[in-house]
Amino acid sequence: MRILAIFAHPDDESYGPGGTLARYARAGHRVDLLTLTRGEAGSLGICKTLAPEEKAEMRRRELECAAETLGIQSITLLNYPDGQLNTISYQEGETVVAREIRRRVPDIIITFHDSGISGHPDHIAVARWCRNAVQRLDVNVRLFYFGLDARQAERIPNRPLFPIPHTDITHAIAVEDYLKIKIQAIHCHQSQLELWQRLQSAHGGYWQNAAIEYFMQVWPSRRTQALREDLDL
Ligand SMILES: [Zn+2]
Repeated sequence: MRILAIFAHPDDESYGPGGTLARYARAGHRVDLLTLTRGEAGSLGICKTLAPEEKAEMRRRELECAAETLGIQSITLLNYPDGQLNTISYQEGETVVAREIRRRVPDIIITFHDSGISGHPDHIAVARWCRNAVQRLDVNVRLFYFGLDARQAERIPNRPLFPIPHTDITHAIAVEDYLKIKIQAIHCHQSQLELWQRLQSAHGGYWQNAAIEYFMQVWPSRRTQALREDLDL
């Protein structure tokens, strides 16, 4: 099976479905990554003191570290403007995503839920580009939105988060055995560790809150079927 993960920022792959990506990569599946921006608008921690170009370079190296840790085989890192993906036309966004789908021929595409999870407009834009691209292309691919379930979102304090509505969740992937790898990948993103501090303060602890990663199969739509525990089903 070939998985293509598509995200707005370097670090989304790790803080997002990093456990699932590590799990499938270690099971021998191919995982490729498309990251649309270089993260040059980052505003956490050390990013406050760096120029955009310095941030982009630092975050490129962090992404390479995380990809290697998770078992991602290739990174396509593009240079769309961080924080401004909603200014790119849908047509252009779809075309970029479609080009990568034709190149990588994935069985599965994973991106963030179109709530943006944190509501970030870049995440929302990329989710829409992915959905539009798979609808337009005549290829046999399944699109999954990754997101939090309501309980996970509630346990993380001081942060407005937008979970996947319970009835929309189609897949629940157990990643407890891969959390060490996910946390290692998160730590590759040294410039973004402020976010890690927040996640660690989750009620019940990070480990418990992150043991399952939730997905909604968006394409082809499968709303009425029972919850699955393997993306390959
Ligand atoms: Zn992001």
